[in-house]
Amino acid sequence: MAILILAKDKERSLLRRHPWVFSGAVSRIVGKAPQPGETVEVHAQNGRFLARAAYSPQSQIRARVWSFDEAEEINADFFRDRLKRALRLRDVLDNSEAAALRLVNAESDGLPGVIVDRYAHVLVCQFLSQGAEFWRETIVRELQQIFPDHVIYERSDSEVRSKEGLELRTGLLVGKALPDHVEIVENGLRLLVDVRQGHKTGFYLDQRDSRFALRQYAAGREVLNCFSFSGGFSLSALKAGASRVTNVDMSQPALDLAARNIALNGFDAGRSEHICADVFKLLRQFRDEERRFDLIVLDPPKFADSRGQVDRACRGYKDINLLAFTLLKPGGILFTFSCSGLMETGLFQKVVADAALDAGRDARMLTRLGQAPDHPTGMAFPEGYYLKGLVCMAM
Ligand code: SAH
Repeated sequence: MAILILAKDKERSLLRRHPWVFSGAVSRIVGKAPQPGETVEVHAQNGRFLARAAYSPQSQIRARVWSFDEAEEINADFFRDRLKRALRLRDVLDNSEAAALRLVNAESDGLPGVIVDRYAHVLVCQFLSQGAEFWRETIVRELQQIFPDHVIYERSDSEVRSKEGLELRTGLLVGKALPDHVEIVENGLRLLVDVRQGHKTGFYLDQRDSRFALRQYAAGREVLNCFSFSGGFSLSALKAGASRVTNVDMSQPALDLAARNIALNGFDAGRSEHICADVFKLLRQFRDEERRFDLIVLDPPKFADSRGQVDRACRGYKDINLLAFTLLKPGGILFTFSCSGLMETGLFQKVVADAALDAGRDARMLTRLGQAPDHPTGMAFPEGYYLKGLVCMAM
C-alpha cells in the first residue's frame, strides 16, 4: 500500500480526526503510485501512522480518511461495520415501513462521499468521491444484505463528482423496477418522491423537523411557501389548519408534485395556489401589489459554493428576507433558512437582523432550527453542519 507522507506540521487536523487531507499538506508519496480511490496510508513527516484514506489525484481534497485506527483494514467487513454503525444511530428515529430517512451521511458517518437515503422500500445511493466510487460494488452488496427486499437506485449525478474527476451516473442497481413515484410518510403526511428526477436523491429530508416545527405556528394563517419544491412545508401548514397556502417555485414539475401531494392528503385544493416564478421577482411584485401574509417560508437553494461567493450570498439572503419582512402582517411569522455551509449561523442571523431593520420591522427571534438528526455532524467535521433556520416574528 502506498504511503502518503505529509509535510512538516501538517498532521494537526488529522490528529483531531478531521477526515480530509488537502493537496497542499502532502509532501510525497512512497511506494507504487496509487490508482484513484485506492486505499493509502497517511503518515506524518516523522513517520507516525495517522490514517488509512482513499486517494483522489484530481481533487483539492487529495485523500479522505476511512479509518484512524492502524489495526483496521479497509475491506468489506469495514463497510459492513460502518453501515451498521450508521443504522444504529438512527434506531431512535422513525424507521417504519413507509418512513424516509438518510441512512448514511458521508463524512459524518465515517463514510466520506457516501450518501444513502431510504424512501420506504427504495434506497437511493450517491457515490461522490473517488474512494466511494472505488468501493461502490462492495457497499451496494452490503446494503443488499442488510435490506434484502429493497430496490437500490443510484443518483450519482451531483456536480461534486466532477471535482473528483468522475462522470455523472444514475440507474437501477438492485431490484426489477422502480415506480415513477415512491410514497413515503413523514410525520403522518403522505408524500410522493420522484427518485429518478427529483432534486438531490428525490426529496429534502434534512428539513423534516423544521416542516414539523411549522405546525405550531400555522393554524388559521395565510402561508406563503417560497422555494416550495414538492410542498412539504405547505402540507404541514394545511395539517395544522392554515387558511391558505401559496407555493412558489421556478420548477413546474416540483409544483405539480406539490399539488398531487396536497390532494393525496385529502386537503381542499381550493385552499392552495401554485405559482411558477422566480421568488426574487415575485416578492417584489407582491410588495408592489401590497399583498400581505401571516406566515412566510424562505427555503432557498445554496447561494455560496466557495468562500469567494459568501458576500454575494449575503446580499441574496438580505434581499429576500427584507422583502419577506415587508410582506408580513403585524405578528406575522418568518421561517427563514440557509443551506450554504459556508454561511455561518452568526452571520446568517446578522443578515436576517439587518433585513428586518431595513424593512423597518421590529422583529424577534423565537427559535433556531437545523438539519434533522438523520443528517448528523461528525464532532470533528464541523463542515457537516450546513442547514440553519430562524423563526422570527415581526411585530
Ligand atoms: N422547502 C423545500 C425544499 C426547497 S429546495 C422542501 O421542504 O422540500 C429549493 C427549491 O427552490 C427548489 O425546488 C428549486 O426549484 C427552487 N428554486 C431555486 N431557485 C429559485 C428561484 N430563484 N425562484 C423560485 N424557486 C427557486
